[in-house]
Amino acid sequence: MSKKVAVVTGGNKGIGYAIVRELCKANFPGDVILTARNEKLGNEAVEKLKSEGFQVAYHPLDICDQGSAIELSNFLRKTYGGLDVLINNAGIAFKNDATEPFGEQAEVTMRTNFWGTLWVCRALFPLLRPNARVVNVSSFVSKKALDVCSPQLQAKFRDIELSEEDLCLLMGEFVIAAKQGNHLAQGWPKTAYGTTKIGVTVLSRIQAHMLTKTRAGDGILLNACCPGWVGTDMAGSDAPKTTEEGAQTPTYLALLPEGAKEPHGQLVWDKTVQEW
Ligand code: NDP
Repeated sequence: MSKKVAVVTGGNKGIGYAIVRELCKANFPGDVILTARNEKLGNEAVEKLKSEGFQVAYHPLDICDQGSAIELSNFLRKTYGGLDVLINNAGIAFKNDATEPFGEQAEVTMRTNFWGTLWVCRALFPLLRPNARVVNVSSFVSKKALDVCSPQLQAKFRDIELSEEDLCLLMGEFVIAAKQGNHLAQGWPKTAYGTTKIGVTVLSRIQAHMLTKTRAGDGILLNACCPGWVGTDMAGSDAPKTTEEGAQTPTYLALLPEGAKEPHGQLVWDKTVQEW
């Protein structure tokens, strides 16, 4: 039987780095691959972990570069013949004082957080082995953003019949509205980051349903999660949680034991399923 393998995106720093470390600490029974878009930063992170005695390998992955995800997929297929754990952690957020026009912020943030994550899933899902675990790092901000959407948009996002195609259209509509400056009038929230994370949370529910349908009996579990408010380059130093604390829920979901039936398709924080 082929060796197991876990992949973490955006692993060179912050919560992604801490997730890689936690997987190693938990003695993940296989190889842990730290991916990062910057080769130097990725290799430095791997060396730092190695100096602590953890065995980790680096592989390049820019989630916004479709070729990069395909190369990772080819590497995994050739080396491992499959994939056991995928943690989609990579993400971006503009700072509150960013001066770029809102439409640009919306487009750029959507490209990474939603489209990038979706693309990595498209490239790597064919490799998922029975009992695989997929964790999409979303945010509690997705729930806050959903709560201020118009009732019509809330109903669409909560509709369990919503398809991946429909969700993609909605994310595109938000970016168009943001660029035209009428997103508020159309019932969208004023947060670009929060809207991209609505996309990630709803995508996770849709993907879980799809896996239940197409891979029935394979025991694959997929969830969205929030790491909490964590002190990183993204969130700043006021955030109360350490990266090690922030890594707890994603790692818990990645290591749900074989035979577990839930959670699946949920938004989880503090290891607890949240109402959506
Ligand atoms: P950081 O900014 O510290 O780290 C983000 C990571 O994502 C970096 O490794 C970054 O790489 C990587 N990344 C960004 N864009 C790409 C890309 N195109 N391809 C590959 N990697 C990319 O943020 P956090 O650790 O705080 O955030 C990690 C995740 O947790 C994000 O999804 C974030 O939205 C989520 N989150 C964070 C919270 C917090 O309080 N910190 C709260 C809720 C959710 P590089 O170094 O090259 O930029």
